Amino acid sequence: MSAPSLASIRNYACHTLALSNFLHRPGDGRTQPAIPAADLSWALLLGAILRLGSANRLEWLAGCANLKDLGLTRKFGDDALAYFTERVDPDCIRRRSAATLQLAKCNKVFEETVFLGLALDGTGVARTTKAACPLCHPIKDAQGVLTGHNHHFVMVGVVGAGITLPFDVEPYQPGDSEYAAGKRLLKRTADHLGPRFANYVVADAKFATAPFLHACDEVRLPVIARLKRNLPELSAAVEARFGQQPPTATFPHGEDWIEVWDASDFDPWEALEWPTVRVMRYRQHKKDGTLVQAEWLTNFSCAKLPVRLFFKLAKSRWEIENQGFNDAKNLYGMEHIQHHHPNSMLVNWLFLVLALMIERLYRIRHLHRGAHPIRTAMQLKDALWLALRPARADSG
Ligand SMILES: [Zn+2]
Repeated sequence: MSAPSLASIRNYACHTLALSNFLHRPGDGRTQPAIPAADLSWALLLGAILRLGSANRLEWLAGCANLKDLGLTRKFGDDALAYFTERVDPDCIRRRSAATLQLAKCNKVFEETVFLGLALDGTGVARTTKAACPLCHPIKDAQGVLTGHNHHFVMVGVVGAGITLPFDVEPYQPGDSEYAAGKRLLKRTADHLGPRFANYVVADAKFATAPFLHACDEVRLPVIARLKRNLPELSAAVEARFGQQPPTATFPHGEDWIEVWDASDFDPWEALEWPTVRVMRYRQHKKDGTLVQAEWLTNFSCAKLPVRLFFKLAKSRWEIENQGFNDAKNLYGMEHIQHHHPNSMLVNWLFLVLALMIERLYRIRHLHRGAHPIRTAMQLKDALWLALRPARADSG
């Protein structure tokens, strides 16, 4: 196997992940494009993979590194990327990301589990003090004084399958809500991936609302959601029951010890059209003596989902937090606004999650073959940088 390089990733993306047509036709809305779409769409992916963090640095790299090594045919300015991203159809990227996941599933990328999950969660990114765009949410201090703006979206990713693959985001404007954006994202996901792709949805307490849970019913996906005090009647009933009982089961979890309580006959709250609600409480006794307690609700039956598996699936929600938001923001530059325009930001976020997907499939499933250990994301990024030659090698 050849050493990791951008050319090798591009080859993998084009052939194994069938992205070649997409790179040439990414939903480009420019009427008279001077720069081929394939250069700009691949540039957005390589910019995320190399963790450049800004369109300015991408312009710099395209000017000083060997273009062939980068997989580009020509140089361009950051204004070309801005003009391009303002006009790309986000739906085209979303459909390609979903198709990439379907292909990955056919290629047995998710072989480690029988329960494939979709985790949804919302976040805020890209804080700015400059003039607002339609997606800007005002940030006010304790005195109610406007101090800036940021941008909110809900992200969805495949979890519980040994490899975390975020693949779509749904932004929402001020006045809209996180769970309404989550509903739109869930419906689109089911539409793009088909009804039998995933086995469950997992989400935080903000999504434990009747409209979101009903949306899961509509797309025929069982749902696991965190139960917090935003559902006071159910929380009180759970405390009244589980507070009096010994745990249903106990088991080790790594170095920790877990106690669980599990019952499937709680009454639904008024707006929820479920016959009953199943709730699990767990107490996680950590080695350092600390205790974590949490409750989760679901419409999975006890027969379909034994309690230990319920616990495992609930924990899979952390993947969208840790390998989704944290990695995208802290490592891949999702916090940075490349161009403050609503469609450009969305297109940049979508290319970023597609880049994450390509990087993870390449690193964890493609490079890790035979005796090759799994490289860390940092090791791969460093190897890719070291494989680049300066621009003057072009003429040699
Ligand atoms: Zn804005």
